[in-house]
Amino acid sequence: MRKKFICGNWKMFAPQWDGEIPSFSADKIVAVAPPFTELSRMAERLKGTGIQLAAQNVYFMDEGAYTGEVSASMLKNLGVSYCIVGHSERRGYFGETNEDCLKKIEKLAEFGIAAILCVGESLETREAGEEYSFVGTQVEAVFEHLSEAAAEKIVVAYEPIWAIGTGKTATAEQAQDMCAHIRATIAACRGADYAENVLIQYGGSVKPANAAELLGQDDIDGALVGGASLKPESFFGIVNY
Ligand code: PEP
Repeated sequence: MRKKFICGNWKMFAPQWDGEIPSFSADKIVAVAPPFTELSRMAERLKGTGIQLAAQNVYFMDEGAYTGEVSASMLKNLGVSYCIVGHSERRGYFGETNEDCLKKIEKLAEFGIAAILCVGESLETREAGEEYSFVGTQVEAVFEHLSEAAAEKIVVAYEPIWAIGTGKTATAEQAQDMCAHIRATIAACRGADYAENVLIQYGGSVKPANAAELLGQDDIDGALVGGASLKPESFFGIVNY
């Protein structure tokens, strides 16, 4: 039985989690990904809450003259358990490629950090009817090459770019169909038994009002939440859907 995994992505927004942190049932995995500068403060704040600490990005080198970058070992030292990789904003604004994603995922695995690999198509790709082949290629580019250690921990987030921060959610059917396609693609790369256990989240304008329907789908194992994770009331409205 796959657990539900809900992760908040605060992007480059100031945290608004100053009030009491609500509780949630222990059969769920809950994490938040604050900006790098807030990781250490949040590590303290989350102690004893059961909420895991996630990062929004990592660099794949161990150390060196890479101004502005942060390594997996640095994240580990701060208590990070998950790290988002290949978010469409990083692919779009910072040129992150499938190859970069693979290198980051492997480096994270060396330090015991689970990657949340984001995949998803643009509106243009969907309108051209190419969304399944596009997302399938993103998934294959990683799953065909993953080491066993990285494969053990990886989570996938299906995030159609047209639904991120737009208020336009994919219908439960669209999200389920793509998540099922992602699972089938993973099965083709690494076998059905393995694919059956991989957690696949949906992300794109998830809010308390649509969480139950999306998270009730067979192949949707959780949510990656942007805007609605900034305030605990809405984030926990999703967690406790
Ligand atoms: C995201 O950035 O991963 C995301 C899903 O954002 P939002 O929930 O705001 O659409």
